[in-house]
Amino acid sequence: MINSEEVLVLKEVRYKENDKILHALSKNKGLIQLISRGCKKNNSPLINVSQTFVHAKCELYKSKDMYVITSADLIDNFYYLRNNMDAFLYGSYILELIHYIALENMVDNKIFDMTVEILKNLSSSNENFDKLTAAYELKLVAMLGFKPDFYHCLHCSNDIKTDVILSIEEGGFYCPNCVNNGNGINVLYNEILTLRKILKIKFKDINTVENINSKVMNLIRKFLFYHIGKNNFITLKLLNNE
Ligand SMILES: [Zn+2]
Repeated sequence: MINSEEVLVLKEVRYKENDKILHALSKNKGLIQLISRGCKKNNSPLINVSQTFVHAKCELYKSKDMYVITSADLIDNFYYLRNNMDAFLYGSYILELIHYIALENMVDNKIFDMTVEILKNLSSSNENFDKLTAAYELKLVAMLGFKPDFYHCLHCSNDIKTDVILSIEEGGFYCPNCVNNGNGINVLYNEILTLRKILKIKFKDINTVENINSKVMNLIRKFLFYHIGKNNFITLKLLNNE
């Protein structure tokens, strides 16, 4: 049976003389492996779609635990990511991150669409790659169901109106009256407002959110990494010149 499926290619692996195996996030099936036969030949109709960063609509049939591509239409390859080293590295980090997450979690079509959207924004932007990536990470936290309550104290449920303490492990904030034995990270009320705004805005409007500073970005990343159980992404080491 032939299926039509939108995919984002996360990784390409050489296979036999002219073929590739593509690790891809699909819109409806989560992580899948695609065999692209003959795609290394110059005249192959699959040559342009069998590459990392490709967003394509494919016709597929299932063969054992893989899918074979019979035809495909390129939707986007985020070409301009290749013109800017930072954009490329942030884009590569997004692929590595979502690859890991899709191995461990059900990734639905909303996460698929958001991942395509962030690559589009990284590809069309000349700046703010770090802020765009932080916004993706925070929205991902929410979509995976780990989102802290940004409006209420974890313990007494009172509205958050002042500086608070973040407990990453417990996934929420303590108000000054309920301070959690002093454990946790101090978060200013202004930073809470920034986090709330990031959750609501579209990537293209990232410039309208003030105060996305390195502390806020680090908090988001720390929170995400704790809850997905991984922090050693190779592309991040390249980004941080480690
Ligand atoms: Zn409280």
